[in-house]
Amino acid sequence: MSNTPVKETHTFQTEVKQLLDLMIHSLYSNKEIFLRELISNASDAADKLRFEATTDDALYEGDSDLHVYIEADQDARTITIRDNGIGMNRDEVIANIGTIARSGTKEFFGQLSGDQEKDAHLIGQFGVGFYSSFLVADKVTVTTRRAGLEKEHGVRWESTGDGQYDIETVTKETRGTEIILHLREDADEFLESFRLTSIIHKYADHIPFPIRMLGTPMPAAEGEEEKPAEIETINQASALWTRPKSELSDEEYNNFYKHIGHDFEDPLARLHQKLEGKYEYTLLLYLPKRAPFDLWQAESKHGVKLYVRRVFITEATEDLLPRYLRFVRGVMDSNDLPLNVSREILQQSPAMSAMKKGATKRVLSMLEDMAKNASDENTDYATAWEQFGNCLKEGIIEDSANRERIAKLLRFSSTQDDEQTLSLTDYVERMLENQDTIYYITAETLAAAKHSPHLEVFRKKGIEVLLLSDRIDEWLTSHLEEFDGKKLKSIAKGELDLSNIGESAEEDKKEHEEAAKSAEPAVKKLKESLGDKVKDVRTTDRLTESPACLVSDDFDITGNMERILKQAGQDVPSVKPILEINPEHELVKRLAKMRSKDKIADFSDILFDQAILAEGALPEDPAGFVRKINSLLTQ
Ligand code: ADP
Ligand code: MG
Repeated sequence: MSNTPVKETHTFQTEVKQLLDLMIHSLYSNKEIFLRELISNASDAADKLRFEATTDDALYEGDSDLHVYIEADQDARTITIRDNGIGMNRDEVIANIGTIARSGTKEFFGQLSGDQEKDAHLIGQFGVGFYSSFLVADKVTVTTRRAGLEKEHGVRWESTGDGQYDIETVTKETRGTEIILHLREDADEFLESFRLTSIIHKYADHIPFPIRMLGTPMPAAEGEEEKPAEIETINQASALWTRPKSELSDEEYNNFYKHIGHDFEDPLARLHQKLEGKYEYTLLLYLPKRAPFDLWQAESKHGVKLYVRRVFITEATEDLLPRYLRFVRGVMDSNDLPLNVSREILQQSPAMSAMKKGATKRVLSMLEDMAKNASDENTDYATAWEQFGNCLKEGIIEDSANRERIAKLLRFSSTQDDEQTLSLTDYVERMLENQDTIYYITAETLAAAKHSPHLEVFRKKGIEVLLLSDRIDEWLTSHLEEFDGKKLKSIAKGELDLSNIGESAEEDKKEHEEAAKSAEPAVKKLKESLGDKVKDVRTTDRLTESPACLVSDDFDITGNMERILKQAGQDVPSVKPILEINPEHELVKRLAKMRSKDKIADFSDILFDQAILAEGALPEDPAGFVRKINSLLTQ
């Protein structure tokens, strides 16, 4: 560090510039959050110091009274926020408040809509954090020293938020961070200590460290001298989750959520429980109203925080909750774990896995309750499903122990229900007499699923079919083979026997057998001319309107799955489909009678390519398909 130049000017990373710009233009109506963010950072810094000091007491430098101090200077028009937390060294300053290191930054900017309210919400989730200083300040000065470094290794960072910042090495007597905000013209209101204290109450009552300010001096009583103002602690300074439920208001719960969830909106639901038994721990967990922007990125940042006897340890979602519940926000506080413990040991600790199991169960119960209470008026579960449904589907794959519970939480669209509100339980209740299978179809889009020719006979017989069009559904169905004792079956796979279901079953069967016989010549011609494009050609009674469709064998992957894997760059061997034809269809009848070899070849190709198109995919030679159709049309 001895070689670092004393003062340098750096340019902000492009993303920081963009973020600053956006914030100033999208969040101006919500300026006060700067204080929440800076206090939150100070509190994180205190958490980190307390944690590091559990193994190295010297880091306290004799001062273990961790707190935040806030001061407004009317004359200088500045607000100062000072903490005695962990502080930062020069490299950390450059990395933390000059760049956005987080993955998904690009996606984040891509998601911005220009709609202020929506964008403000996204920005909040992205972590406006430190940069929100510029909502109220036109110049920000940060002076900081990392705990454990010599006084001479302090760092001063200064910026007017216009694209660059200065950084220099300074001497700082005390460890921790001091932030001076030079207020903008329009931010005068924040110089009023009354305004500051009310914001602190609003956002920071639950911060477990005291937030202090200089109180107003007491007016002198007659004959006495004026007493100097005393320093007061403004917030409650107690960890919210340790307080009894009965003492906490919705507002306090919600404000705490906004703090840990970095959200502008109230949460959708919460659970707060103290568990006592073999292991003791407290859960305060929330469901956001909206999926965080990075839900589908490998690294999602804000999750559940682990505390041990109120000391913050780590923010590592997957050790605390399974990955498929990564949308949950909140705090888990264990009474059993040792404080000075490594991540590896944490992961193996029985107390930890008991807590993870318990928390998973309770989150599922919370979702079950929401689902139970769902109605036209109460759409909370519908919201949760819309936002996090695909995560729960991962749960079916990941969490075999809870598979049955999760399966009950799933919601689908079906041929009789467009709204994605159908549960498997509802489906089973509505099954027809003699129906013992849950039928579904997977396709790339809901429209493709809905219009699939495979559905024709199901429509005719009034059998409900689940319409699955999310990518994950292919995996979901390969892990969820049964529900409530009923097999799940893809209607695009294997042979179909619906002859027992429905009224005119016997008659239908006979009719079909006759028709199948008359279509035999067509089957033969198709087999010959399609050759090894298909695994087999056969007649079916699943079609009532279309001439043909493709199905796969029971144990082959579906065409949809094959396309998904190929799009993902995976090398999958092509599985040959089975072509099924509708013996009653005019085209099939015509083919049966056809003689010209060329015509039969074209006709076969058209039938085959049509069936591919009906799945929402493209035939191998689209131009050839068009040519053949056109020549047919002009004949
Ligand atoms: P976030 O808090 O979500 O990480 P911020 O923009 O609020 O994002 O802060 C960026 C980083 O800067 C923090 O993660 C932390 O490493 C560092 N930082 C900010 N304020 C402080 C502080 N008062 N003390 C120590 N480090 C800080
Ligand atoms: Mg922050």
